[in-house]
Amino acid sequence: MKLALSRVHFPVTTLGPGRRLGIWVQGCSIRCPGCISSDTWAKRGPDVEVAELLDRVRPWLQVCDGITISGGEPFEQPEALEQLLHAIRQLSGGSVLVYSGLPLEALASCDVVKQGLVDCLISDPFDVSMGQTKYLRGSDNQRMTCLTALGHEVFGSLDRHATDSDRRLDVMFDSDGEVWLAGIPSRGDMARLQLILENQGTYLRTTEARS
Ligand code: SF4
Repeated sequence: MKLALSRVHFPVTTLGPGRRLGIWVQGCSIRCPGCISSDTWAKRGPDVEVAELLDRVRPWLQVCDGITISGGEPFEQPEALEQLLHAIRQLSGGSVLVYSGLPLEALASCDVVKQGLVDCLISDPFDVSMGQTKYLRGSDNQRMTCLTALGHEVFGSLDRHATDSDRRLDVMFDSDGEVWLAGIPSRGDMARLQLILENQGTYLRTTEARS
């Protein structure tokens, strides 16, 4: 079974508690206006065997506090997601947080949810017209739902407003020299960063969706 993968990183500290393994899938047909991850919209063919991905992340699975899966839209690859999450349950005792732009009501009937493979879901599409006051969410319409005992234990106290200390991003450097950010930027942060960099004679290039 293959998964269309955007990127993997460890540790991610801004998308859930602790030092987490972040897995971003490739492909999202929801296309929320204002999405900051438009580079993950384009559908490519599934490009990595789930077993190969697991081999790659196995050392991190043994030391991470949890796994965060985002995208892209993870539930648009349900079979690969199921295989991945089954294996993660075997290899790690960490909490599993999955981001989805689909409504909670549509996700409740998905196999991975019914099988208890997701501890916490952040659901519903990003809505740029809504406020942005909640922890771990880009817009206030997005719902955090604990689905398992572990989910309640780890995330039960986190369905709250964001504090100033929550508003930070991980900066990551890929082996090919690219720098990218993970986390939930405050509205306008990327535009402000672009302005600062331009004033210093450099620039921020944002990736565009490729259909
Ligand atoms: S569901 Fe997520 S990745 Fe897809 S467009 Fe909305 S915010 Fe972006």
